[in-house]
Amino acid sequence: MELKAWRITCRDDGYHQQCVVFAESRNDARRLDDRDCDCEFIDIRIVRAPSFDELSPGPVTAQQYLDQGWFWVCGYCEKPLYRVSNPVIIKDRVYCNRSCVVASRKSYNPVGAHESVVSLCEELDTWLGSSVTQTKEGVN
Ligand SMILES: [Zn+2]
Ligand SMILES: [Zn+2]
Repeated sequence: MELKAWRITCRDDGYHQQCVVFAESRNDARRLDDRDCDCEFIDIRIVRAPSFDELSPGPVTAQQYLDQGWFWVCGYCEKPLYRVSNPVIIKDRVYCNRSCVVASRKSYNPVGAHESVVSLCEELDTWLGSSVTQTKEGVN
């Protein structure tokens, strides 16, 4: 059976990130909620999200959320970004523009850091490296 899309939100909508998961039932969807959220059970809303059904079984990428009209918060300055603002998407991180990618990269020191930080730095470096040759911009 095709899994259905469910949108999970908090009553304090917007503060805790909302997400879409794919499951057969609302209860299954609840178990898939891995957001960083400390809300009470009754404050979490789970509703069907039919417009995401075609993306089953997921996971939904940042690009797909943007395509559905959702916003994503910049990985550096935390500004909400919609698809119309044409943000930079690197794996599942979204940035306003190149400056925010550069600033974000500078805020991390991969030496001795956790594996996830090291791989993030590599991804940012790869993107910055390839876009330098495309745009002939300086890295600063
Ligand atoms: Zn919450
Ligand atoms: Zn930004």
